[in-house]
Amino acid sequence: MLVVILKESRQDESRVALTPDAVKALTAKGFSVAVESDAGTRSGASDEDYKNAGASVSGERAELLATADVLPVVNVLPADDQARLKSGAVMIGFLRPLDEPAALEEAVKRGVTLFSMELVPRITRAQSMDALSSMATVAGYKAVIVAADHLPKLFPLLMTAAGTIPPAKVLVLGAGVAGLQAIATARRLGAVVEAYDVRAAAGEQVKSLGAKFIDVDLGGLQTEDKGGYAKELSPEALELGRQAIARAAKTADVVITTAQVPGRRAPLMIPRAAVEDMRPGSIIFDLAAPAGGNCEMTKPGETIVHNGVTIFGPMNLAAEMPVHASMLYSRNLSNFLQLILKNGELKIDRADEIIAGSCVAMGGEIVNERVASAAARQA
Ligand code: NAD
Repeated sequence: MLVVILKESRQDESRVALTPDAVKALTAKGFSVAVESDAGTRSGASDEDYKNAGASVSGERAELLATADVLPVVNVLPADDQARLKSGAVMIGFLRPLDEPAALEEAVKRGVTLFSMELVPRITRAQSMDALSSMATVAGYKAVIVAADHLPKLFPLLMTAAGTIPPAKVLVLGAGVAGLQAIATARRLGAVVEAYDVRAAAGEQVKSLGAKFIDVDLGGLQTEDKGGYAKELSPEALELGRQAIARAAKTADVVITTAQVPGRRAPLMIPRAAVEDMRPGSIIFDLAAPAGGNCEMTKPGETIVHNGVTIFGPMNLAAEMPVHASMLYSRNLSNFLQLILKNGELKIDRADEIIAGSCVAMGGEIVNERVASAAARQA
């Protein structure tokens, strides 16, 4: 049973799927692990570290692909890499099956078993495998750090002999995992923080972090689904939120936006007019950029300045903190691997809720209904 760890091929990817610690645990259980040369360099793990953990290190990517039984990855492999995999091999990672099902076609065709970390059900037993939360935590922190660095102001209230500097005002939109981490980080730096979310439950969490919750009366509308996620709102309810946000954004120094609805385009929360009402020098950091952005002016993958307001639209922010992002991701993956690697063998029990929920393809077919309809829609 060979577990293979490749060097990620995306230019903007600095994370690695499994760290040397995780490799050590696998080799101790009798699994063979082969690592592509340089796979961990950008996340602080050398080839030597992997060798010391019991792995072999090789520069022969094609051979690694052809011999892999289990392939933990960060991002989906390019099609020409997928074409080298053997039938029955298992690939696990952020495969974006609902966003880009076509990118998985070659692997599905070859009979590769695919598991998506995005689809791991958010049940209690799967909490230690929740890679989305891990990456959202890193991104929420990093967003505030980048914004604080870029802001032409100090974050904390300072009383000096030359006078008092008021604290920066930070507005956080969407108080899920990333938003709550952004609030906590901004508070630690001394900013005054306000936050908005459609889920009423988020209000208590926001307040417990010392921030003010912006309450918008949506007339008792059901805003949360059974899984604890936000539902897609009606245009009227979205507009009520936008009005409250525009009022708060007018006086904010930094706006961090994180609002998302799974499987949908991110809701539009800051229209152009609201940006133009903001103060020059202020910042919008749009963490929803990969899902289209919460701000109308966001350009995914770019940082732009509009009327003096800098708008960041990062596509892969967690990768900018590769050491800890890899550490957390590797732990999430290792916990998932324990479900399918037992007694030195690969055992896929499709009756297990976590395995069933996250399995995208097996035996040459897409086995997840949502992914199958996303693939049919985009065909
Ligand atoms: P997410 O990334 O899908 O969305 C981020 C936030 O945006 C959410 O809080 C959502 O309510 C909010 N949002 C969506 N549309 C909005 C709008 N129009 N206006 C304002 N806010 C809007 O969510 P997430 O951070 O991954 O998590 C969402 C929920 O799931 C939270 O309740 C979280 O605590 C819960 N969760 C549970 C588990 C678990 O049980 N294992 C793990 C992670 C998260």
